[in-house]
Amino acid sequence: MAWDIVGRRFSDDDFATYVDGLSLSRWKPDFIVLHNTAVPSLAQRPNGFTPQHIQNLHGFYLGKGWSGCPHLFVDQNGIWVLNPLTRKGVHSPSWNAVAWGIEMLGEYGSEPFDTGPGAMVRANAVSALATLCKKGGFAADTIRFHKEDPKTTHTTCPGKNVRKDQVIEAVRKAMQPPAASDAKLVIYRQGMGDQPAAVIPAELRGGAAHASSAAMSSATGIPSDEDRMVSVRSFLGSRYSLKWVAESRKVFAVEK
Ligand SMILES: [Zn+2]
Repeated sequence: MAWDIVGRRFSDDDFATYVDGLSLSRWKPDFIVLHNTAVPSLAQRPNGFTPQHIQNLHGFYLGKGWSGCPHLFVDQNGIWVLNPLTRKGVHSPSWNAVAWGIEMLGEYGSEPFDTGPGAMVRANAVSALATLCKKGGFAADTIRFHKEDPKTTHTTCPGKNVRKDQVIEAVRKAMQPPAASDAKLVIYRQGMGDQPAAVIPAELRGGAAHASSAAMSSATGIPSDEDRMVSVRSFLGSRYSLKWVAESRKVFAVEK
């Protein structure tokens, strides 16, 4: 029976948005199984998969007479969705009915997983695993490696260079919300003397203070069409002088 693949590549952020929109009401797995492709290796796909490679993989699995294939193929450039995540795939004999299958491009019996292109695959795989663990409501330590399937002949998959404890720890970290910040944005407006017009919670992201655009808008009168966390400098910078005081974790914004 012919079946289709999704056949799209996502960045890690776009993949999270895509997964957010999926309904698991027809089929919901219990955990995730991690694989490496072995063939092809990273050496054989130095630039990752092309759309043609992905179509060829689809043809390969159809040719085997399988009813599906692994759900994701992760490479250096992102996350390819093949078997729809909303139905069961084929990747691990004991667990096809109950698990998502994620293939990582590479032969991690010999290719490094912590440097070069292998590290890029690892980062994308950790992000994909975290997104799917959150979607499925799974703890990171429920992830299984293909070689743990008692029925598989792939007794080394995903390769000895992929350490399970390290993968689980990285996924656990990736699942945590960013640490709450206790920074504050203190806004002073002309004509209000020493009284701040507002004190607003702020977060540091990449060294730059961010705050709610709606809160900054209501304190300053600068229009904002939707409420999101935006850079304080980009929102106020043309009309306010900004000063960060590290000891008190406060950004002072003074109307020019
Ligand atoms: Zn495998």
